[in-house]
Amino acid sequence: MERNRNEKAVRKPVIALAAGVPDSEIRRRKLRMYVEAIEKAGGEPHTLPLSTDSEALTKAMSDVDGLLITGGRDIDPRMYGEEPDSAVELEMQERVDRDAACIKLAKKSGMPVLAICYGMQILNVVEGGTLYQDMGPEIVPLHRESGRDYIEHDVAIESGTFLERIVGSQRIRVRSSHHQAVKKVGTGLVVSARCARGEIIEAVEREGAFCLGVQWHPERHERQPDPLIVAFVEAASSWARQRSG
Ligand code: MN
Repeated sequence: MERNRNEKAVRKPVIALAAGVPDSEIRRRKLRMYVEAIEKAGGEPHTLPLSTDSEALTKAMSDVDGLLITGGRDIDPRMYGEEPDSAVELEMQERVDRDAACIKLAKKSGMPVLAICYGMQILNVVEGGTLYQDMGPEIVPLHRESGRDYIEHDVAIESGTFLERIVGSQRIRVRSSHHQAVKKVGTGLVVSARCARGEIIEAVEREGAFCLGVQWHPERHERQPDPLIVAFVEAASSWARQRSG
């Protein structure tokens, strides 16, 4: 009845955090920012195990309502058919494989996905796309500042995209910390934002699903909850209601 429906609506959506191993104080602090940003947006964060066992992952994913892939190190370029150059600092392969498997599970079930920074890159690679292994000394300083968590820059959002609908604007200021970027866009993904200075791809989305990759860090934005994370948590909530009928 009405009351039941309301009770269901207030159950917090559980957000799977597909993160790297927090093996340093910096990584622990960065992980806390995701946890807090999800909580402030009304979600309940749940850290995914670091497992590549497909049964364990299927089980873990069946207990959650949304998939958030956090930032991380670099993906082995051999996954997109290139030899690594000297600039790459590889993420643990176990993590990369786990995240790739989760993206595929979410695609199959229609579970909402928010893929941040490294997360956007693995989303793109899973769909057959490629990356710039390093944007180079002229571009990297516009997107990453050494010794700091972020540098700010503007992003131009493509009109008519899902991202534009969520953000409600064609230009936003974001906090950025990356030295790689999407080169060839993966199959089934479309570019939804670029850096306002230049052509660097800053966001991709899958048509017909809440599956969004952003190169920036909404969880590091000063004003929380961030609208993007709110929209994602709400999508997870409505997907969970749909799933449970
Ligand atoms: Mn950037």
